[in-house]
Amino acid sequence: MQYDELAQLLLPGKYPSREELEKRYPPRNLPKGAEVTRLAPSPTGFIHLGNLFVAIANERIAHTTGGKVFLRIEDTDLKRKVDGAVEAVIESLKYFSVSFDEGAEIGKDETYAPFYQRQRVEIYQSYAKELIKKGRAYPCFCTEEELTALREEQKANKELTGYYGKYAKCRNLSLEEIKENLKAGKPFVLRLRSEGNAEHKIKFHDEIKGEITLSENDQDVVILKSDGVPTYHFAHAVDDHLMRTTLVLRGEEWLASLPIHLELFSALGFEHPRYGHNCSIMKQEGETRRKLSKRKDPEFSLSFYRKEGYYPRAVLVYMLTLLNSNFEEWYLINPTAPLEEFPFTAKKMSKSGTLFDLSKLNDICKKELSQLSEEEMANFLEEWTKNYGSDRQKEYFSDREYLLRVLQLCMGTQSKKRRKDFETASQAMEMIAYFFDRTPRVDEYRVDLDTRRAVLQDFSRTYDERDDAQVWFSKVKELAAAHGFAAEMKDYKAAPENYRGSVSDVAEILRIAITGKANTPDLWTIMQILGREECLSRLSLACEEEV
Ligand code: GLU
Repeated sequence: MQYDELAQLLLPGKYPSREELEKRYPPRNLPKGAEVTRLAPSPTGFIHLGNLFVAIANERIAHTTGGKVFLRIEDTDLKRKVDGAVEAVIESLKYFSVSFDEGAEIGKDETYAPFYQRQRVEIYQSYAKELIKKGRAYPCFCTEEELTALREEQKANKELTGYYGKYAKCRNLSLEEIKENLKAGKPFVLRLRSEGNAEHKIKFHDEIKGEITLSENDQDVVILKSDGVPTYHFAHAVDDHLMRTTLVLRGEEWLASLPIHLELFSALGFEHPRYGHNCSIMKQEGETRRKLSKRKDPEFSLSFYRKEGYYPRAVLVYMLTLLNSNFEEWYLINPTAPLEEFPFTAKKMSKSGTLFDLSKLNDICKKELSQLSEEEMANFLEEWTKNYGSDRQKEYFSDREYLLRVLQLCMGTQSKKRRKDFETASQAMEMIAYFFDRTPRVDEYRVDLDTRRAVLQDFSRTYDERDDAQVWFSKVKELAAAHGFAAEMKDYKAAPENYRGSVSDVAEILRIAITGKANTPDLWTIMQILGREECLSRLSLACEEEV
C-alpha cells in the first residue's frame, strides 16, 4: 500500500510538521517535580461536583508542586456546545477559589494556545496524516446501518462489540477500493489501526488507584470524524503532549478508555502523561449507594451551591475532607490556615467511591459561618443577594448598622460560643427576614386564640421599650401569673395540674406574635432592634388573627 499517496488523498492540505509543532509548543521550563495539570471540560453548560473534585485536585497538585494548571475546552462535539458555557465554568470554579494559570478565556499566558480544540483542528489533522503515512490510520466508509448490523452480529455471537480484528471491514481496503469510495463521494472517518491484543494484560500505575491491570486496546477507534474533527481520544492525546501535561487527573468514567489512550500516545510517538482516575461521587440511599445523578440530585450541579449561597470555604473544606484522607487531621491542627497550605497529594485520594453527604456539608457550613465576624457575614450575604436575592432583600443592606445588630444577635454575642444557625446565604436571609418585614407565621401557637389575645393585649399595655431585659422578663412573669400560667418553671414542674401552662408558653405567644417563629434568639433584644412602634404594630396584628 502506498501510504504516502493515501495520506495525500485523504488529507491533501499543507500541515505543520512535527518539528514545527514541537517548536511552537516547547517543553516547559519548570522546576523538577512541578506538575502540569489541566481541566478539560466539554462546554455543555453543566458543571457538576465531579468536575469540581477533579478541578480542586488538579489545581492543588499543580500549585503545591510549583507547576501550572490550565483550562482546555473540549468542544469537538459541537452538538453539545452551549453559549456562555466556558464563562460559566470559569465563574463556577472561581467561586470555589479554583483559578487557572492559562487556558481558554484566562488570557494570561498564550504559549500553548489556542485552548479551544475546535481551533486546533489543523494540528490534529497533521498528526493524523502522519499516522496514515505510517500505516497506523485508515479510512473507514462503514455507514451507521452497517455499524449497527455489526454490533448486532457481535452480540449474537456473544463477542465484544466494536470495530476490531476480523470485524474491522475497512482495515484492509486496497488503495483502489479507497479511491473508488472517495470518487463515489462516500463519507469516511479515520480509524486507528490498532496493534493491540485484548488478551494481553498490561500493568499500569494509576496515581490514585495504584497498580491496576488493563487489557490492551484492540479497537480501531475513530480518530477523526467524517467532518475532519477529532474525537476526544485523539485530541486529548495530541493536546496533552503539546501542552506538556505531566499528570492527567480525571473522572473514573475514563478508566475504560485508558488502553486506547496509551496506544494512541505510543502510535503518535509521544510519552504519555501519568494518569489518575478519581472515583465517582456516591450518595447513600437507604441501604444502598448510588452515583450522584444530574437528574435526581440537585446537589450534583455546582449552580446549586451558588444559588443556595453555600459559603465557598465550607464547600472547599468538605471537598478536601473527601478528597484527601489526611485533610481532616491537618485542618484540626490548622483551623484558620489558608487552605492552600494543605499539602495535597494524589496518593491520598480515595481509591473507591466517595460518599457525599449534604447534611455533613451543612454542618461544616454552620461551623464555618459561625466563625465569621458580622462584617464578613454581611459582605457574604450582600454578595449573594446581589446575584440571587429579591429586590426587598437588597434593601436589607441599606442600613448597615441595623443589619450588623441583627447579625450580631443571630450569630451570638459571645465569641467563643457563637450560635450555629446560619447554613447558607439563602437560608440566613430567610432567617433574618422578620427583622425587616412582618413575615408570615411559620409556627403554631400552643395556646388558644382567646387566651393569646388577652395576653397580647395586656402585654402591649405595659410594654415599655426602656425596660431592661430583667424588668421586661419580670413583666412577662407577672403576665403569666395573671392569666393562670406558672410564673416560675419549678412551680410548674412540681404541679403542672395547677396551671394552664408556664411562663415559657406566654413568652412563646409573644415570640410568635413578633417574629412568626417559636425559635429565635433572645426576644428582648429582638424587640429592642425592631423598636417600639414596630413591636406594638405586630402585637396588634397578631391579635387580629382569626385562627
Ligand atoms: N472532555 C472530557 C470530559 O469532559 C475530559 C476528560 C479528561 O479530563 O481527559 O470529561
